[in-house]
Amino acid sequence: MRASAYPLIDADEAATLVLEHTPVLGVEHVAVGDCAGRVLAEDLVAEAPLPAFPSSAVDGFAVRASDAGKTLRVVGESAAGRPFQGAIPPNSAARILTGGVLPEGADCVVMVEDVELAGDTVTVPKALNAGANYHKVGVDLKPGDRILAAGVQLGAAEIGVAAATGRANLPVRRRPRVALMSTGDELVEVGKRPGPGQIPDSNRWALLAALREAGADVTVLGIAPDEADALRRLVVAALLEADALVTSGGVSVGTHDLVKPLLESLGTVHVGRVKLKPGKPFTFATLGHAPAGQARQGRATRADGLLPDPLTWGERVAFGLPGFPVSSLVTFEVFVRPALRKMQGFGQLHRPSLPVRLAYDARPTADRTEYQRVTLHREGRELVAETTGSQSSSRLMSLAGAHALVRVPAGDQNLKAGSIVEAMILSLP
Ligand code: AMP
Ligand code: MG
Repeated sequence: MRASAYPLIDADEAATLVLEHTPVLGVEHVAVGDCAGRVLAEDLVAEAPLPAFPSSAVDGFAVRASDAGKTLRVVGESAAGRPFQGAIPPNSAARILTGGVLPEGADCVVMVEDVELAGDTVTVPKALNAGANYHKVGVDLKPGDRILAAGVQLGAAEIGVAAATGRANLPVRRRPRVALMSTGDELVEVGKRPGPGQIPDSNRWALLAALREAGADVTVLGIAPDEADALRRLVVAALLEADALVTSGGVSVGTHDLVKPLLESLGTVHVGRVKLKPGKPFTFATLGHAPAGQARQGRATRADGLLPDPLTWGERVAFGLPGFPVSSLVTFEVFVRPALRKMQGFGQLHRPSLPVRLAYDARPTADRTEYQRVTLHREGRELVAETTGSQSSSRLMSLAGAHALVRVPAGDQNLKAGSIVEAMILSLP
């Protein structure tokens, strides 16, 4: 064991440092069919009105409101996609179907239920309102209107409106390519029977799910041994293809904890320890220069016989998450998820936060901000937070099924049951 060389920094300061050093990724044009979940990179502005023509909202007859009460001659039809040719003369009507173009001359549509039909004539009600029952040009969008703002996530409605304005492709931010690696000689593949002292590599699957939910395109590197050279080879090779590296384990101060020195040799460690519980050993680095011994200035040459020559190292980031399953997921939530969202250009980086009433006495940690896991239920208009039990960072059951993380500031004063606190919402009950 050795003492850590890294200063313990405040949790908020660490979060700021991570975001400061995380780049926003570039723009690509993606077919609307593949845009679900992606983040729009530029404001989308309407070039033409929507709807582009006056279109009927109902099935009925297109008429002049001034012909109210009359029996009119039916001179033709305007169906969706098959407009009536020309204008309707006075004292006449055109049959119109939903989505059909309102013919010239007409200024309203009468619903088929409200007319009397006889042969090729139609008698319309005594009172008619000009403008009734059709969609006016530009009611949805006028030329120059902002359709969608940069930073919005594209869901069904956003993709729908973009397609309605005729866009086949949209400018979206690139998804972060993330290399995910577990470290530890005690780990075995899930599904294999663990030998003495071995445990399944559960973090890989938990983090894979979390990364995908956050929009990352993940390459799973598997289990790296607690052996410096092998770890280095894996990481250097992975970074060829990745924007970010996420590791779990190997960041505490035991002699087998090799991730920090490795990241230090590949770049700059900005965060080495945090006043956070769980998650004190969380590590964040930028890999902005070549591996030690290689050319600097953003270019690396062949290292360990693995890298093509030359490799541009650019703005890669690395997150060394603690090994304890709960610590790895909580630090993911606090640091990694907002960073991945920044990379994708999200306007909103953080989970929503809501006031909740504590149903238990929350005991703080003297010198660290703590994120306590809670379930939520509703009582009247309030959300009430119940602890998930022992908050030990090795106890995954403290996080499984949790709805929120309650932020308990460092100190020695209990947050009493009944107090209202802000909670980071993971899901609502
Ligand atoms: P470390 O940070 O490597 O000292 O690991 C801290 C604790 O987390 C140890 O008990 C490890 O066995 C456990 N741990 C590390 N990596 C994983 C993993 N991938 N899956 C499950 N537990 C792990
Ligand atoms: Mg380990």
